[in-house]
Amino acid sequence: MSELKTCPFCGSRNSAVHLSPDARWHWVECGHCGARGPEVRVMMDVAGEWNRRADYEPLVRAPSDRLAERLKASALNLHEAVEGSALKADLADAGPTPFAGRNKGVNRG
Ligand SMILES: [Zn+2]
Repeated sequence: MSELKTCPFCGSRNSAVHLSPDARWHWVECGHCGARGPEVRVMMDVAGEWNRRADYEPLVRAPSDRLAERLKASALNLHEAVEGSALKADLADAGPTPFAGRNKGVNRG
């Protein structure tokens, strides 16, 4: 059996293989958060099933982190582009943004 990877949900190394009472099925369960891998026949590689999830789960969560990083980078790029261009003066001449005007309206009631 291959070595168990860390729990895909909590990162714990406290996972172990459990065996059904009839000894036909086994699964990996995290001793920290209780996450369970799929139940597979005893002749199958239960660690492989658990590790496949461990490899996959971070990829599922990653997009929101990557998206946040990309949005932050885009905002910084936009800010730098505006600061270093004539657009900054144009924006200042244009006066309040539509959003500022709308907020004033809301505040006046
Ligand atoms: Zn866990």
